[in-house]
Amino acid sequence: MLSTVHARDSVGCLYRLLELGFTYRELEQTLLGVVSQRLVLTKCPYCKEECHPVCFRRRKMKRMGVYEVLAERDLENVLRWMEGASFGDHVKYKTIKHYIQQGIALGFLPESSYEKWIGE
Ligand SMILES: [Zn+2]
Repeated sequence: MLSTVHARDSVGCLYRLLELGFTYRELEQTLLGVVSQRLVLTKCPYCKEECHPVCFRRRKMKRMGVYEVLAERDLENVLRWMEGASFGDHVKYKTIKHYIQQGIALGFLPESSYEKWIGE
């Protein structure tokens, strides 16, 4: 079964499932993975943050999906951590925050994406 839940990220989705009445054991036994997504605006390759009024790409700002996948061993470790085990260095899944920071660093996403989607 495939379903959607509104949550901030994959771990937030697990908390939502617990709030909905699932137990840790049920999640461990049945959940194959959690994918969290954000649709973000990509940066114009010709302008900086805002498109110049004569930019031919103006109003054609494309969006792209940024995905965080929590599955297999990482999912098991996160569920154990949520039950009280130490987080440890063995949880290696990459978060949406990581991919958005990477997108900004590589110049695909405007810097305003950080404030909008991560904002700390
Ligand atoms: Zn532009």
